[in-house]
Order: sequence, then C-alpha cells, then structure tokens
Amino acid sequence: MDAVLLRGGKVWDGSGRPAFAADVLVAGNRISRIQSPGTRFPESAIAFDIADHTLIPGLVDGHAHLPFLHKASIADTGDVPPEEHTLRTTQHARVVLEAGFTSCVSGGSAKPRIDVVVRNEINAGHIPGPRMLAAGPELTNTGNLGDERQMHIHRESIAMIVDGVDEMAKTCRMLIREGVDTIKLNISGNQTTPNSRSDQNVMNEVEIRTAAQTAHAHGKRVAAHVRAAASIKLALRHKIDILYHCEYADEECLDLLEAARERIFVAPAIGLLHNLMYEAGEWGITYEKAEAAGVVHQFECAKRVFAELRKRGVRVLVGGDYGFPWTPHGTNARDIGHFVKFFGYSHTQALVAATRTGAAAMMLEGRAGEIAEGFLADLWWSPVSRMTMSGCFRSRVTSSSS
Ligand SMILES: [Zn+2]
Repeated sequence: MDAVLLRGGKVWDGSGRPAFAADVLVAGNRISRIQSPGTRFPESAIAFDIADHTLIPGLVDGHAHLPFLHKASIADTGDVPPEEHTLRTTQHARVVLEAGFTSCVSGGSAKPRIDVVVRNEINAGHIPGPRMLAAGPELTNTGNLGDERQMHIHRESIAMIVDGVDEMAKTCRMLIREGVDTIKLNISGNQTTPNSRSDQNVMNEVEIRTAAQTAHAHGKRVAAHVRAAASIKLALRHKIDILYHCEYADEECLDLLEAARERIFVAPAIGLLHNLMYEAGEWGITYEKAEAAGVVHQFECAKRVFAELRKRGVRVLVGGDYGFPWTPHGTNARDIGHFVKFFGYSHTQALVAATRTGAAAMMLEGRAGEIAEGFLADLWWSPVSRMTMSGCFRSRVTSSSS
C-alpha cells in the first residue's frame, strides 16, 4: 500500500493526553511518523487534508454481534439460511467499520461459521470490515437464553443448546476445529426467558469448567453472559476471560472482579438496556413493558456496578449488543456517551475504554489502540464539532487488514 499523509488535523493519541496538532504518515498498515504540522514528508505520499478534524485510534466494540439481523426475535434470526445470513453479516461488517470501529470482539455468532468466515474474508482483504475475534454461537442450556424450542416444534435461534459435560466438550472442540477465537457461554438466565431469570445461575459448574478447560487447552478465549452474582463468581473461579453484563454483582463479586482486573475484561452492554427502555416502542416495547420485564432495575444496577468498577480500575469495554432493531449496527459509538453519562467516566476515560482497552481485549496491546509510531494504522477521524461521543458519525478508515 502507498504511504498516506493525514495533515492539518489534531491527534488524540489514546494515551490520555489532550489532542495536539500533528501530521501523521501511514506506510502500509502501520503508523510511520507523527510530526509537527508542516513537516516535509515523502512527495510520493497521498495526502489527505483533515483540517478541523481530530484523528483518533480506531474504536473497538467489545461485545459485537455482526450476524444479528435487526430482528426483534432471535428465533426469526435462526430461520435465516446460512448463505443469506453470511451475506448480511458482511454488510454489517462494512457498516460498523464505516462507523469508526476498526475492531470487534464478537459476543456470539448466530451460526457456527459466520463469524469465522467473515473474519477470514476481512483478513484476506476480500471484503471491508473490522478486525474480528470470532466467536461461535452462544452455548446455552435447555430452557435458557437462546433455546427457542417448544415441545412440539423445533426452532433455531442464535445459540447452540448443550447439556452436560460431554456435549459441552464436544461442542467446544467442534467450534475450535471450525476456527473460532472465542467460546461464548450463557451462564445466567435472561429477562426474555421467564423460567431462567437474569438473576439466576443456570449453567452447571461442571459445564462451565469443561468449556473453560477445553477452550484454554487450545489457547482460546471464553466469554460469558453473566448477570447473576452466582454466575459472576463461577465465571471468575473458572478463569472466564470476558464477562458480559454483570448487573447483579454483589460486594463479593466487586472484590473478586477487582482482584482479577489484570486478567479479565468486563462489558456492560449498556446500549441494549438503554434502548430497550427508551427507543423500542416502535416494536411494542414501551418503557412500562421494559420496566415490567426488569430492564429498568437492571439498568439501575448496571449504573451502580460499572461506576464502582471504574473506581476499582477494572478494564471495561464499550459495546452494547448492537444488531437488534432498536440497536442498529453502526450506532455502536453511542455506548461511549453512555459511559460518561451513566458510569461517571470522563470523556477521555470513555474514549480510552473504546480504544486502548479495546485493543487489549483484541490481544493487540502495544500494537494498536493508540496513535504511536509503529502501531497498526487503525484510525478514524471526525469533524471536531461532532466529537460529542453520542452519535454515529461518518468516517474514513485507512486500513483494516492485518
Ligand atoms: Zn450479546
């Protein structure tokens, strides 16, 4: 790739210091030089004038579901055949990249090979999209989140249903054979499964242990849907790497999460809760219905827990379960504003969570997530006047392939 010069703008480099005026030269897919404005660069470089813009490290969504199809029902997502489903996912990959997200940690593919195939095609340069850590479908138990079957009818959804140690080991090994980076477990219940509630632990400890041991034996990550306090404790005991939601963390959980802070990442997926309360009326989910389902209480619990985790220095990722009709792909950056408004992050802290912390979750610590010489040129620039951190912006990204 030719050298590209981004000149005339400001640089917010992700280190936490204020933005400063600088020109940035990108060579290949690396940041080559950062110099004072007006410094001479090679004449062969293709120059982009980004005056009145601020250049920042590419954003990282820590809980992405690119295969989610903007359907209110996960069973409707399950109905879509793999071919159509994969093509739609490639569209979402492009939308999310163009919204400034140069990396996505998948929180679950909806079919076994979609994340893997899309990741591979992006890495090969065949389609545009963010870097991806590919997950398998969410592994759930009979009756828990992702089991849409009834006694008399089979329905697929976004999950694979595994019960017992043998099924868990075999399913994990199969997904690893197919190329996933992450095994995703639904350990807690959910507000959408009345007999497996959000505040209940559903998955057995032996199943969790089997998944973690199997994944880690292959050098893979484990991420988990954990809302209940008991689930958070089991996840930590068995060395789960990424913990999603965590709203019902009790004091013991907070202490345990803090003690594990060098090893784990957590992500509140706050965008989904927020929009279920305020922006899902068009799909029949009013504030009152969300409240009756426990979402408002969950949101209040999340505010308390994640404000506390911020103070305790736990690494928290942005990413809000985008891909439902009320959380459309491409609006992912709204989570950054939620961190400021609801968890007490400063603007700088929230952007660091979305960049440097996200890069660490992508296993790119020291190689991406900051604008520094030698780092991957995962970059985004935005008009200064629109740096409100609460919307979805037009963007241009220089490089997504590794
Ligand atoms: Zn999710």
